[in-house]
Amino acid sequence: MNKGILYVISGPSGTGKGTICAEIIERRDIHLSVSTTSRSKRVGEIAGVTYNYTTPERFKSMADNGELLEWAVYNGNYYGTPKAQIEDMLDEGKDVLLEIEPQGALKVKEILPETVLIFVIPPSMKILRDRLVSRGREDEEEINDRISSAKWEFMQAFKYNYIVENDDLGVCVARVMQIMDQCTAERKKIYQLLNS
Ligand code: 5GP
Repeated sequence: MNKGILYVISGPSGTGKGTICAEIIERRDIHLSVSTTSRSKRVGEIAGVTYNYTTPERFKSMADNGELLEWAVYNGNYYGTPKAQIEDMLDEGKDVLLEIEPQGALKVKEILPETVLIFVIPPSMKILRDRLVSRGREDEEEINDRISSAKWEFMQAFKYNYIVENDDLGVCVARVMQIMDQCTAERKKIYQLLNS
């Protein structure tokens, strides 16, 4: 059986990558991985759905025991991708989607080079700032921190396979699905050649 494809979506806070992932899993037969984090649960988040929440100690022991495909520290909190379930799904031919930041994304690419990395950018810095302000989750100092992190993250975009602009959500989601269709077709062709 052909292996499933692992996709990673990254992009600075405020680019809308969470919404894009939610739209993709509605429309495609793809599993969205639930990460483990040591950060506290925010209002509206659901344990086991948004994240699996744990303590920093338990997180470190998961990392030490090799239970995570990758992990990173972001804004002082640990975030990691559980390994076993993802490997099983890919082996069963199912596609998997990770929504993770660039340090983790690049580690995944190192471990599994066949991973498809997609980076979401905003149309402009002004629009990114406006989106952060309008969602009202961070104060001005935190917004400035997010903007400086965004600049570092944009530099990492050069290492990704695809860069997609999120100006209009529908257009952006359609572009991501087009990338997925293209990757599926290309890999199917390679498997056919290998098996012929
Ligand atoms: P937030 O705390 O806003 O939910 O997420 C902060 C950042 O951590 C986001 O960029 C998100 O994509 C990233 N993130 C979420 N889960 C993981 C993970 O398992 N590994 C890594 N490396 N980053 C993650």
